[in-house]
Amino acid sequence: MSPVVTLDRVTKSYGELVALDEVTLAFPRGRFVAVMGPSGSGKSTMLHCAAALDPPTSGSVLIGEVDVSGLSETRRTQLRRKHMGFVFQSYNLLPAITVEDNITLPLRLAGVRPDRDWLGELVDRVGLRGRLRHRPAELSGGQQQRVAIVRALAARPDVVFADEPTGALDLRSAGQVLDLLRELVDELGQTVVMVTHDPAAAARAHDTLVMADGKVIEVLDAPTPEDLAVRLTRLTGEPVA
Ligand code: ADP
Ligand code: MG
Repeated sequence: MSPVVTLDRVTKSYGELVALDEVTLAFPRGRFVAVMGPSGSGKSTMLHCAAALDPPTSGSVLIGEVDVSGLSETRRTQLRRKHMGFVFQSYNLLPAITVEDNITLPLRLAGVRPDRDWLGELVDRVGLRGRLRHRPAELSGGQQQRVAIVRALAARPDVVFADEPTGALDLRSAGQVLDLLRELVDELGQTVVMVTHDPAAAARAHDTLVMADGKVIEVLDAPTPEDLAVRLTRLTGEPVA
Protein backbone atom coordinates (compact mmCIF):
# COMPACT_ATOMS: atom_id res chain seq x y z
CA MET A 1 0.00 0.00 0.00
CA SER A 2 1.30 3.45 -0.84
CA PRO A 3 2.17 5.80 2.02
CA VAL A 4 -0.55 8.22 3.15
CA VAL A 5 1.72 11.20 2.62
CA THR A 6 5.13 11.45 0.98
CA LEU A 7 7.53 14.38 1.11
CA ASP A 8 10.15 14.42 -1.63
CA ARG A 9 13.04 16.86 -1.09
CA VAL A 10 10.71 19.40 0.49
CA THR A 11 12.23 22.77 1.29
CA LYS A 12 10.36 25.64 2.93
CA SER A 13 12.10 29.01 3.16
CA TYR A 14 10.99 32.27 4.71
CA GLY A 15 13.25 34.77 2.96
CA GLU A 16 16.80 33.78 3.93
CA LEU A 17 15.63 31.41 6.63
CA VAL A 18 15.40 27.74 5.62
CA ALA A 19 12.77 26.28 7.96
CA LEU A 20 12.67 22.91 6.19
CA ASP A 21 15.74 21.71 4.32
CA GLU A 22 15.22 19.08 1.57
CA VAL A 23 13.23 16.68 3.71
CA THR A 24 12.33 13.32 2.19
CA LEU A 25 9.90 11.21 4.20
CA ALA A 26 6.98 8.82 3.83
CA PHE A 27 4.21 8.31 6.39
CA PRO A 28 2.98 4.73 6.17
CA ARG A 29 -0.68 3.85 6.81
CA GLY A 30 -1.82 2.73 10.22
CA ARG A 31 1.23 4.01 12.09
CA PHE A 32 1.52 6.43 14.99
CA VAL A 33 4.51 8.67 14.29
CA ALA A 34 5.92 11.17 16.78
CA VAL A 35 7.99 14.17 15.70
CA MET A 36 10.44 15.62 18.21
CA GLY A 37 13.24 18.16 18.17
CA PRO A 38 14.28 21.47 19.68
CA SER A 39 12.09 24.53 19.34
CA GLY A 40 12.55 26.11 15.89
CA SER A 41 13.81 22.86 14.31
CA GLY A 42 11.00 22.87 11.73
CA LYS A 43 8.48 20.45 13.26
CA SER A 44 5.38 22.61 12.70
CA THR A 45 6.61 23.65 9.26
CA MET A 46 7.04 19.99 8.29
CA LEU A 47 3.55 19.19 9.60
CA HIS A 48 2.00 22.10 7.68
CA CYS A 49 3.73 21.07 4.44
CA ALA A 50 2.81 17.39 4.90
CA ALA A 51 -0.79 18.43 5.58
CA ALA A 52 -0.93 20.62 2.46
CA LEU A 53 -1.72 23.64 4.63
CA ASP A 54 1.38 25.40 3.30
CA PRO A 55 2.91 24.91 -0.14
CA PRO A 56 6.64 24.07 -0.07
CA THR A 57 9.17 26.43 -1.64
CA SER A 58 10.55 23.46 -3.59
CA GLY A 59 10.11 19.70 -3.70
CA SER A 60 6.87 17.74 -3.80
CA VAL A 61 4.21 16.57 -1.39
CA LEU A 62 2.08 13.59 -2.36
CA ILE A 63 -1.26 12.79 -0.72
CA GLY A 64 -1.60 9.12 -1.60
CA GLU A 65 -0.37 9.21 -5.18
CA VAL A 66 -1.49 12.77 -5.97
CA ASP A 67 1.21 15.42 -6.12
CA VAL A 68 -0.36 18.45 -4.44
CA SER A 69 2.60 20.81 -4.75
CA GLY A 70 1.47 22.27 -8.07
CA LEU A 71 -2.25 22.43 -7.31
CA SER A 72 -4.32 25.57 -6.78
CA GLU A 73 -5.21 26.63 -3.26
CA THR A 74 -8.84 25.61 -3.89
CA ARG A 75 -7.93 22.12 -5.05
CA ARG A 76 -5.49 21.69 -2.16
CA THR A 77 -8.23 22.71 0.27
CA GLN A 78 -10.59 20.11 -1.23
CA LEU A 79 -8.00 17.36 -0.89
CA ARG A 80 -7.13 18.45 2.61
CA ARG A 81 -10.78 18.37 3.73
CA LYS A 82 -11.18 14.89 2.35
CA HIS A 83 -7.95 13.31 3.53
CA MET A 84 -6.57 15.25 6.50
CA GLY A 85 -7.59 15.91 10.08
CA PHE A 86 -5.92 18.39 12.44
CA VAL A 87 -5.56 18.71 16.18
CA PHE A 88 -3.89 21.79 17.67
CA GLN A 89 -2.44 22.48 21.10
CA SER A 90 -5.10 25.15 21.72
CA TYR A 91 -8.07 22.94 20.63
CA ASN A 92 -9.37 25.70 18.28
CA LEU A 93 -13.03 25.11 19.16
CA LEU A 94 -15.60 27.84 18.53
CA PRO A 95 -16.78 29.08 21.94
CA ALA A 96 -20.28 30.23 20.93
CA ILE A 97 -21.59 26.93 19.56
CA THR A 98 -22.21 23.53 21.16
CA VAL A 99 -19.81 20.60 21.21
CA GLU A 100 -21.99 18.83 18.66
CA ASP A 101 -21.97 21.80 16.29
CA ASN A 102 -18.20 22.16 16.68
CA ILE A 103 -17.80 18.53 15.66
CA THR A 104 -19.98 18.78 12.56
CA LEU A 105 -19.04 22.30 11.42
CA PRO A 106 -16.17 21.33 9.06
CA LEU A 107 -18.39 18.74 7.40
CA ARG A 108 -21.17 21.24 6.93
CA LEU A 109 -18.72 23.80 5.53
CA ALA A 110 -17.56 21.17 3.05
CA GLY A 111 -21.17 20.37 2.13
CA VAL A 112 -20.89 16.80 3.45
CA ARG A 113 -23.72 15.19 5.39
CA PRO A 114 -22.47 13.97 8.80
CA ASP A 115 -22.41 10.18 9.19
CA ARG A 116 -24.41 9.93 12.44
CA ASP A 117 -23.40 6.32 13.22
CA TRP A 118 -19.73 7.09 12.84
CA LEU A 119 -19.97 10.28 14.93
CA GLY A 120 -21.94 8.42 17.58
CA GLU A 121 -19.25 5.74 17.78
CA LEU A 122 -16.52 8.37 18.11
CA VAL A 123 -18.42 10.35 20.75
CA ASP A 124 -18.95 7.21 22.83
CA ARG A 125 -15.33 6.21 22.43
CA VAL A 126 -14.12 9.53 23.85
CA GLY A 127 -16.78 9.57 26.56
CA LEU A 128 -18.54 12.78 25.50
CA ARG A 129 -22.06 11.47 24.95
CA GLY A 130 -23.49 13.58 27.78
CA ARG A 131 -21.66 16.72 26.69
CA LEU A 132 -22.90 17.28 23.15
CA ARG A 133 -25.17 20.20 24.06
CA HIS A 134 -22.58 21.93 26.23
CA ARG A 135 -20.39 24.79 25.10
CA PRO A 136 -16.61 24.25 25.02
CA ALA A 137 -15.98 26.50 28.05
CA GLU A 138 -18.08 24.14 30.19
CA LEU A 139 -15.62 21.31 29.51
CA SER A 140 -12.18 20.58 30.95
CA GLY A 141 -9.11 21.02 28.74
CA GLY A 142 -8.83 17.26 28.25
CA GLN A 143 -12.48 17.02 27.23
CA GLN A 144 -12.09 19.95 24.82
CA GLN A 145 -9.12 18.24 23.19
CA ARG A 146 -11.17 15.06 22.84
CA VAL A 147 -13.88 17.12 21.08
CA ALA A 148 -11.17 18.43 18.73
CA ILE A 149 -10.05 14.84 18.06
CA VAL A 150 -13.61 13.76 17.20
CA ARG A 151 -13.92 16.79 14.92
CA ALA A 152 -10.64 15.83 13.22
CA LEU A 153 -11.92 12.28 12.63
CA ALA A 154 -15.47 13.20 11.57
CA ALA A 155 -14.72 13.05 7.84
CA ARG A 156 -12.79 9.75 8.22
CA PRO A 157 -9.48 11.27 7.12
CA ASP A 158 -6.57 9.15 5.94
CA VAL A 159 -4.29 10.85 8.43
CA VAL A 160 -4.58 13.01 11.55
CA PHE A 161 -1.87 15.59 12.20
CA ALA A 162 -1.54 16.79 15.77
CA ASP A 163 0.76 19.67 16.76
CA GLU A 164 1.59 19.33 20.46
CA PRO A 165 -1.91 18.05 21.28
CA THR A 166 -1.08 17.55 24.96
CA GLY A 167 0.95 20.75 25.38
CA ALA A 168 -1.78 22.56 27.32
CA LEU A 169 -2.98 19.59 29.40
CA ASP A 170 -2.22 18.31 32.89
CA LEU A 171 -0.47 14.95 33.13
CA ARG A 172 -3.62 12.87 33.59
CA SER A 173 -5.60 14.49 30.74
CA ALA A 174 -2.52 14.29 28.52
CA GLY A 175 -2.28 10.56 29.26
CA GLN A 176 -5.94 10.08 28.31
CA VAL A 177 -5.52 11.96 25.03
CA LEU A 178 -2.42 9.91 24.17
CA ASP A 179 -4.20 6.65 25.03
CA LEU A 180 -7.05 7.74 22.77
CA LEU A 181 -4.73 8.53 19.85
CA ARG A 182 -2.99 5.19 20.26
CA GLU A 183 -6.34 3.38 20.41
CA LEU A 184 -7.43 5.06 17.15
CA VAL A 185 -4.30 3.70 15.50
CA ASP A 186 -4.54 0.20 16.98
CA GLU A 187 -8.30 -0.31 16.70
CA LEU A 188 -9.35 1.80 13.70
CA GLY A 189 -6.13 1.66 11.66
CA GLN A 190 -5.91 5.46 11.78
CA THR A 191 -2.62 7.09 10.78
CA VAL A 192 -1.49 9.73 13.29
CA VAL A 193 1.46 12.12 13.04
CA MET A 194 2.06 13.99 16.29
CA VAL A 195 4.55 16.71 17.18
CA THR A 196 5.45 16.56 20.86
CA HIS A 197 8.02 17.84 23.32
CA ASP A 198 7.37 15.06 25.75
CA PRO A 199 9.52 11.89 25.52
CA ALA A 200 6.81 9.99 27.44
CA ALA A 201 4.28 11.01 24.77
CA ALA A 202 6.61 10.02 21.94
CA ALA A 203 7.07 6.64 23.61
CA ARG A 204 3.37 5.91 22.90
CA ALA A 205 4.08 6.15 19.14
CA HIS A 206 5.46 3.45 16.81
CA ASP A 207 8.21 5.59 15.31
CA THR A 208 9.84 8.84 16.33
CA LEU A 209 11.40 11.31 13.92
CA VAL A 210 13.96 13.63 15.43
CA MET A 211 14.39 17.00 13.71
CA ALA A 212 17.15 19.59 13.97
CA ASP A 213 17.82 22.65 11.80
CA GLY A 214 15.07 21.84 9.31
CA LYS A 215 16.18 18.25 8.71
CA VAL A 216 15.08 14.87 9.98
CA ILE A 217 18.25 13.65 11.61
CA GLU A 218 17.02 10.36 13.08
CA VAL A 219 14.16 7.90 12.68
CA LEU A 220 13.81 5.77 15.77
CA ASP A 221 11.78 2.59 16.13
CA ALA A 222 9.90 2.57 19.46
CA PRO A 223 12.52 4.39 21.56
CA THR A 224 12.15 4.48 25.34
CA PRO A 225 11.42 7.84 27.03
CA GLU A 226 14.89 7.69 28.63
CA ASP A 227 16.58 7.17 25.28
CA LEU A 228 14.66 10.08 23.76
CA ALA A 229 15.44 12.36 26.69
CA VAL A 230 19.16 11.64 26.28
CA ARG A 231 19.08 12.32 22.52
CA LEU A 232 17.16 15.57 22.93
CA THR A 233 19.44 16.75 25.71
CA ARG A 234 22.38 16.15 23.37
CA LEU A 235 20.68 18.32 20.70
CA THR A 236 19.69 21.22 22.90
CA GLY A 237 22.37 21.04 25.53
CA GLU A 238 19.62 21.24 28.14
CA PRO A 239 17.66 18.59 29.94
CA VAL A 240 14.07 18.30 28.66
CA ALA A 241 11.22 18.70 31.10
P1 ADP B 1 9.14 24.13 15.59
O1 ADP B 1 7.71 23.77 15.34
O2 ADP B 1 10.08 22.97 15.52
O3 ADP B 1 9.34 24.90 16.87
P2 ADP B 1 8.78 25.85 13.26
O4 ADP B 1 8.51 24.90 12.17
O5 ADP B 1 7.62 26.57 13.83
O6 ADP B 1 9.62 25.10 14.41
O7 ADP B 1 9.81 26.93 12.77
C1 ADP B 1 11.01 26.62 12.07
C2 ADP B 1 11.73 27.92 11.74
O8 ADP B 1 10.97 28.64 10.76
C3 ADP B 1 11.89 28.85 12.91
O9 ADP B 1 13.13 29.50 12.79
C4 ADP B 1 10.74 29.81 12.75
O10 ADP B 1 11.04 31.07 13.33
C5 ADP B 1 10.62 29.93 11.25
N1 ADP B 1 9.24 30.21 10.80
C6 ADP B 1 8.17 29.41 10.97
N2 ADP B 1 7.05 29.96 10.42
C7 ADP B 1 7.44 31.14 9.90
C8 ADP B 1 6.77 32.20 9.18
N3 ADP B 1 5.46 32.11 8.90
N4 ADP B 1 7.49 33.26 8.81
C9 ADP B 1 8.82 33.35 9.08
N5 ADP B 1 9.52 32.41 9.73
C10 ADP B 1 8.85 31.31 10.15
MG1 MG C 1 5.98 24.09 16.49
